[in-house]
Amino acid sequence: MTYEKAGKIAAETLQFGRKLVQEGVLLSDVTRQVEDKIKALNAKPAFPPQISINNIAAHYYPDEDDELKFERGDLVKLDLGVHIDGYIADNAVTINLGGDENLSLIKASKDALREILPMFKPGTTLGEIGRVVEEIINGYGFSPIKNLSGHEIKPYQLHAGLTVPNFDNGDKTELQDGQVFAVEPFATTGNGYVKDGRPSGIYRLVDSRNVRSGREVLQFIMDEYQTLPFHRRWVLRKFGEFKTNFALRILEHEELLHSYAQLMERSNGIVSQAEHTVIVKDKPIITTKI
Ligand code: MN
Ligand code: MN
Repeated sequence: MTYEKAGKIAAETLQFGRKLVQEGVLLSDVTRQVEDKIKALNAKPAFPPQISINNIAAHYYPDEDDELKFERGDLVKLDLGVHIDGYIADNAVTINLGGDENLSLIKASKDALREILPMFKPGTTLGEIGRVVEEIINGYGFSPIKNLSGHEIKPYQLHAGLTVPNFDNGDKTELQDGQVFAVEPFATTGNGYVKDGRPSGIYRLVDSRNVRSGREVLQFIMDEYQTLPFHRRWVLRKFGEFKTNFALRILEHEELLHSYAQLMERSNGIVSQAEHTVIVKDKPIITTKI
């Protein structure tokens, strides 16, 4: 099954990528190597592989001129997804470049994930899952991030329909056989909410009506990424800086593109994340488990 094939590649790439995350290494070296690896395994990135450090929870992708390197003490989330013909797998891991002080924070999100994966059976409600995530993370003395959530996956749709809360939001929706979810508890030393930071350079096509300017770039985006997220850098490789920036500005203004912001923990808390993709079954199938 293609979901499972994508899952194996996502998992293998995550194992490969996590070893690259070391003090003194450029973030952009890691994203480049991760993208090359995905291609070498005959899949495509389902979204730009993200490396979010410390109080940044998600959506950080190093831009063209980004000289940021990993530093001693960093808590690093590596989050990557792959797809084969639109069948997506999404997984993430937290890597510790510090001493022992962040170990229990990593464990909190990881334990929460491990506990909820077996719950992905027909009939479990989304609220029940959220309750378990919150209980476990609170048990470690941390907070779940309440305005981030897991998400249902459908072909070429990374965020499709249902969301999996990281707390009990009272959602009585029951899981159904065959549904696919990316499940991602986030734990933080902060208050448990993210806010928008700077633009990430990540975009997604949200509409495709005809436009007067930027058509060539729009066509490229439709052909290459369809409705999956992509980064400005990927477009820039084909069209160069001027044309890319011009077109993306127009397409965003015309509301054909959604632009993602970096997501920072609101109270500057440190954030950990763990993520797998799972298919709802009486015996749930974790596609990204090696
Ligand atoms: Mn992810
Ligand atoms: Mn995800």
